[in-house]
Amino acid sequence: MNDCDTTISALKEQVHQLCLRKGWGVEGVQDPQHVAMAMTVEMSELLEHFQWLDHAHVEALMAGRDPERVAMIAEEFADVMMYGLQLTRTLGIDITEQVMRKIDIVDHRPPKPYNPRR
Ligand SMILES: [Mg+2]
Repeated sequence: MNDCDTTISALKEQVHQLCLRKGWGVEGVQDPQHVAMAMTVEMSELLEHFQWLDHAHVEALMAGRDPERVAMIAEEFADVMMYGLQLTRTLGIDITEQVMRKIDIVDHRPPKPYNPRR
């Protein structure tokens, strides 16, 4: 399985099956409040890998010169995503619809007076 041959629905099901195998939640469904909180913990673990990096380190990451760190980032990102997939499955949120909706909102939003990304 990879990004090119896997749907988001299939990933949601994979995470749900893991929850069932582990006996997490009620019939594999955990309280969405707890899942959202756990997601922020995992997001903090992801951010730890960027903490105190200077620009040279960031450039090294982006150039593929620190594969060990990228592997750790990937693992924490997977934790974040798994909770996100679980949360959206539980609440009946279609991720694709919501991302496309948000892209449309941002596309049509007037620019902010100061945008450091420009
Ligand atoms: Mg983690």
